[in-house]
Amino acid sequence: MEIINRRQRMSSVSRKVRREQDQTIGLVPTMGALHDGHLSLIREARRMCDVVVVSVFVNPTQFALGEDFEHYPRDLTKDAAVLTDYNVDYIFAPTIEEIYPKDFSTYVSVGGLSETMEGASRPGHFRGVATVVTVLLNIVRPDFAFFGQKDAQQTLVVKRLVRDLAFETEIVALPTIREESGLALSSRNLYLTEEERRAATVLYRALSRAKEMYKAGERSGARLAETVRATIAQEPLARLDYVNVTDADTLQQLEKLEDHAVLIALAVHLGKTRLIDNLVLNRKKNGG
Ligand code: AMP
Repeated sequence: MEIINRRQRMSSVSRKVRREQDQTIGLVPTMGALHDGHLSLIREARRMCDVVVVSVFVNPTQFALGEDFEHYPRDLTKDAAVLTDYNVDYIFAPTIEEIYPKDFSTYVSVGGLSETMEGASRPGHFRGVATVVTVLLNIVRPDFAFFGQKDAQQTLVVKRLVRDLAFETEIVALPTIREESGLALSSRNLYLTEEERRAATVLYRALSRAKEMYKAGERSGARLAETVRATIAQEPLARLDYVNVTDADTLQQLEKLEDHAVLIALAVHLGKTRLIDNLVLNRKKNGG
């Protein structure tokens, strides 16, 4: 396993793998503080591809002003130690200047999908995501890139980006990994106090209640959303930012849930920490 910091080195290694060795490359983009959610993506990359690149980069452009960019957990030594057990070939851990050279001024915006939910709550967030993913895909040129259903909207935005701008990379989306309590794994869980961590199980509880109602035949998007709202309201430490019930592919708000795959997505504040989670109902596979 080699740790690469320079974009030029990453590009040239990647070119060699593709051209001279005729091998496939899988990229797993992360912001580090690796947990089992990341590792499930890496495992699948390992299974599908000859060469696995994990990028570790806390991307400043996807944090809105006043968010946790400064405090986001960073420990490359620990991440690298974890990755040695997973047979990863390269860690790409660039500095900010390697991704955003001086006078950087080109940004990518994915219209429509970026504007609701996380996009509405975090101005500029998906512009930052789409831009960094574009730069990473152009540096690494992977055959496959792996993303988690945990960040459902992000995965849709990236799929749209890749389709619209004709990247040759195929995006692979994989299910959300949870603790036994139901809490979705997230690097931001590290911010939670013990009490907040217990309270954070309310996200999955709320989603599960909506799912049960759906299974019992409820087809009103508004009533599912109301159940989520009411469940979150029962937890004194939690404050709901949003809950949306939408078509899982288009993110169009749904009133009547017919044959669509349905995404129920929410964001919740627990003290200073903001967590997101979601469930997909009525999808044949990768239902998260
Ligand atoms: P992050 O480091 O939080 O930017 O996440 C990097 C990738 O890991 C993204 O594609 C996330 O969707 C994915 N990911 C994060 N948490 C989980 C989880 N609990 N289960 C599955 N994938 C996850």
